Amino acid sequence: MRKFKTESKKLLDLMINSIYTNKEIFLRELISNASDAVDKLNFKSLTDNDVDIDSADLAIRVSFDKDNRTLTISDNGIGMTAEELEKNLGTIAHSGSQEFKTENAESQGNDVDIIGQFGVGFYSAFMVASRVRVVSRAFGSDEANMWESDGLEGYTIEPAERATHGTDVILTIREDEGGEDGEGFDAYLSEWGLKNLIKQYSNYVRYPIQMMVTKH
Ligand code: ADP
Ligand code: MG
Repeated sequence: MRKFKTESKKLLDLMINSIYTNKEIFLRELISNASDAVDKLNFKSLTDNDVDIDSADLAIRVSFDKDNRTLTISDNGIGMTAEELEKNLGTIAHSGSQEFKTENAESQGNDVDIIGQFGVGFYSAFMVASRVRVVSRAFGSDEANMWESDGLEGYTIEPAERATHGTDVILTIREDEGGEDGEGFDAYLSEWGLKNLIKQYSNYVRYPIQMMVTKH
């Protein structure tokens, strides 16, 4: 296992122990990452003649498995190599989380308001997930890798299988998360709940968001 850097670990602790009520923003963050990844590949296809992509095929896909409590956000964007998984998901380097961290240090416990103000990024998945797996294959590579973590001390990266370029972010939703209302409704593991959240948070996404539904 590789250990998270200190600053990443602090943010993760904050995320996991968060009493923040709008935890569902994790979906906005993961869909915006998927959208960024698709953007990057789309841009590459416009600027590089060797990249032959039909932009009509670019999409984000959301699926869930209620029995296994998994929610998956997939894209067929640029993907990540093993090195990129390490660099991008093992360390907090981007501005959103950096600002969040700095602001939070200053406001002593006012994290409740701050989470909503900034793009908090990938780690927000750990507000609702006990385990996150990221299976990714970089465009132009024929190898895929899986990054996996429980958000506590560290993560693992190992070879995996993926048919084409892109990324699957697979969340195991915590038992106590998902908006159970006592009638078995689960916001993150139901078609209705997810459609509602996607509508709320993803208006700005320029690619189709497809929902995969298993018919019983
Ligand atoms: P930000 O989006 O602000 O850069 P995040 O914490 O949301 O920060 O994501 C960290 C980085 O991980 C991204 O900058 C990107 O390089 C990488 N990443 C996350 N999700 C994906 C994805 N679906 N496809 C490709 N790269 C991704
Ligand atoms: Mg992001």
